[in-house]
Amino acid sequence: MSENYYPLENVLSSEEENKFRKEVREWVLNEVLPESDRIEHEKLFPRHLFKKMGERGYLKALFPKSVGGTELGIKYGFILCEEISWACRPLVAAFDCTIFGSIPIMRFGTPEQIKKYLPGAINGDKIGAIGMTEPNAGSDVFSMKTYAKKDSNGDYIINGEKRFITNGSQADFLTLWCLTDTNVKPHLGMSAFIIEPSFQGFEIVGDFELMGCHGLKNTYMRFNNMKVPKENLIGLKEGLGAKILLDELDSERTLAASSACGGARRAIEIAAKHANERKQFKKALKSFEWVSFTIADMAIRLEAARNLTYQAACVIDAGKDASKIAAIAKVYSTDIGFECANLALQICGGLGYMKGEYNKDAGSYLNPNGSPAYVIERVFRATRLSSITAGTNQILRYLIQREVFKEMNLKTPEESQNW
Ligand SMILES: Cc1cc2nc3c(=O)[nH]c(=O)nc-3n(C[C@H](O)[C@H](O)[C@H](O)COP(=O)(O)OP(=O)(O)OC[C@H]3O[C@@H](n4cnc5c(N)ncnc54)[C@H](O)[C@@H]3O)c2cc1C
Repeated sequence: MSENYYPLENVLSSEEENKFRKEVREWVLNEVLPESDRIEHEKLFPRHLFKKMGERGYLKALFPKSVGGTELGIKYGFILCEEISWACRPLVAAFDCTIFGSIPIMRFGTPEQIKKYLPGAINGDKIGAIGMTEPNAGSDVFSMKTYAKKDSNGDYIINGEKRFITNGSQADFLTLWCLTDTNVKPHLGMSAFIIEPSFQGFEIVGDFELMGCHGLKNTYMRFNNMKVPKENLIGLKEGLGAKILLDELDSERTLAASSACGGARRAIEIAAKHANERKQFKKALKSFEWVSFTIADMAIRLEAARNLTYQAACVIDAGKDASKIAAIAKVYSTDIGFECANLALQICGGLGYMKGEYNKDAGSYLNPNGSPAYVIERVFRATRLSSITAGTNQILRYLIQREVFKEMNLKTPEESQNW
């Protein structure tokens, strides 16, 4: 399949950014794409590719020079996530959650915490994860129950459970949010800890079986009187948890938007290639107006999503408040990512619903002729995820409307109703 739908030379990007995109795209084509089938079919966690990302210096992009990074910024994270998720969404998940497990340590950690945990994350040796969600605390993250109690030495004993934790069973370190004070409002009584799987009382209950992104590991974990040294409280100060969480959300949402752009781009390429090759009524599908105009609509949405995402990345890199634009970019890009996959599947017709051709010798479904149509069901399943993570698109719409009313000096709906 032609892999050049989106031109490398983006007018908004700097020469350096375009050069970086070219390099990443070549690496993805040569080393990630050939592995993507195996990762999906064998449900293989792509640690080997994550390690290569580290060796190539890609993980450094989001870290400041003071901790060994290259400080290139979120714009480079945008490029990485879009290019990689085009081929392999599970690898982006391994990357994202390591970055988001590291940012709290980088921004709020002590020099000792930074020295102990970040070098491994930057060079690709260590996988990170973030633990917020619990069975009874999803969108309402502040209703979490996991509790860290100080013992007589000043260390902590943590009890509780977390679910849906990406990289959870593979992680070498995990940034975990829990309550340290239940006598105050949760956003004041929440703290963040660095957890290692070797800590006594840390239990992996198991990984969930997922609809898509099969190389992604998503874990249910329990803490049974888990002993955590006081040195592992991020920033060595209780009550910083909400601040630490809010600090990284804009970056998390912008990278979720970037991954969705990669999925949308793949969907458009599949649709265009199939519409070019497949003939019905003695004509290529692309000659029917619904097909070609649908491809146009997908391209319009992708360009809009990409520009919104780039804007969010620029605002973050400029150190300005990106909460509204990052939420807008995330909602729009992840909505259209799935829409594009859905439309591309329709253009592929029945083949789009198939995983491949059954091969008796291999005992599995294969794509011997490299038909683009057999790839779309995987893209469809993968792109469905992104409107749920990093803040559901419903919760983000709630945040966006609140900003709109505030900017216009009007009461927000909840203020009007005395919520
Ligand atoms: C594959 C995967 C990976 C994940 N990775 C991580 C991770 O690494 N770390 C982590 O901590 N969590 C992770 N999560 C959890 C994710 O952040 C939550 O699933 C998400 O926050 C939603 O919570 P929930 O699933 O409990 O849904 P619920 O909160 O139960 O919501 C269900 C539905 O109701 C809607 N809803 C809820 N409240 C409102 C409201 N006030 N107004 C309107 N609609 C509302 C939601 O939008 C959603 O559509 C992951 C989830 C998945 C599926």
